[in-house]
Amino acid sequence: MIRPMDSVKMIAFDADDTLWVNEPLYRGTEERLHALLAPYGDPEAIEKQLYSVEMRNLRLFGYGAKGFMLSMIETAIELTRGRITGAEIQQIIDLGRALLLSPIELLEGVEEALQTLAGEAAPRLMLLTKGDLLDQESKLVRSGLGDYFHHVEIVSDKNENTYRRTLERYGLEPHEFVMIGNSLRSDILPVLAIGARAIYIPYHTTWAHETVREEELEGRGVVQVESMREALEWLRGKIVTG
Ligand SMILES: [Mg+2]
Repeated sequence: MIRPMDSVKMIAFDADDTLWVNEPLYRGTEERLHALLAPYGDPEAIEKQLYSVEMRNLRLFGYGAKGFMLSMIETAIELTRGRITGAEIQQIIDLGRALLLSPIELLEGVEEALQTLAGEAAPRLMLLTKGDLLDQESKLVRSGLGDYFHHVEIVSDKNENTYRRTLERYGLEPHEFVMIGNSLRSDILPVLAIGARAIYIPYHTTWAHETVREEELEGRGVVQVESMREALEWLRGKIVTG
């Protein structure tokens, strides 16, 4: 039996909601914003407004907590028609600050899997995440996982071009590269599109922007597992999935 691991020279890991908890922290922050803005709108209206402001700002601010903070402030200004006070804006900045300083909670089996893989002669391990450079670097330090990775790439977006360029830079053929992540949009579909392999580990909460319609997955050969431990087993050829 040919094990996927036999030809793999690089395994790349997404960070947020693949290695550690992230999206629930954003949702928790959003709930606190709802409480703050309760006099000006119901949660549904606030959520809708915030998402539309985030989408409008994405191209300028990029992904990450600082862009999110600015989008929360803009949402507050728009929803209150400029009546939000300086003190309330300070509270929103404090919400963003707390998000930037949140302790890192590793997902189950992550450290064991990285320990196991790092102990083997090959392949090399890469952290490949999108977002704000300082925020992601700081999360990696706080996670204590930094030493397991041979390479760390923090990029502004993860699309086909990003993966193509990354493979080129490391002198890798698509069949030598495997990506592991929780986002079909960022970690799985663009990787499959360039002919490399990807392992999808869904997380219970996904940001609306990262979701993909079921129809888009048909015939793509998405490998889906339940946990990092199962991802390791798939790499070793111990489990075969769709
Ligand atoms: Mg992720």
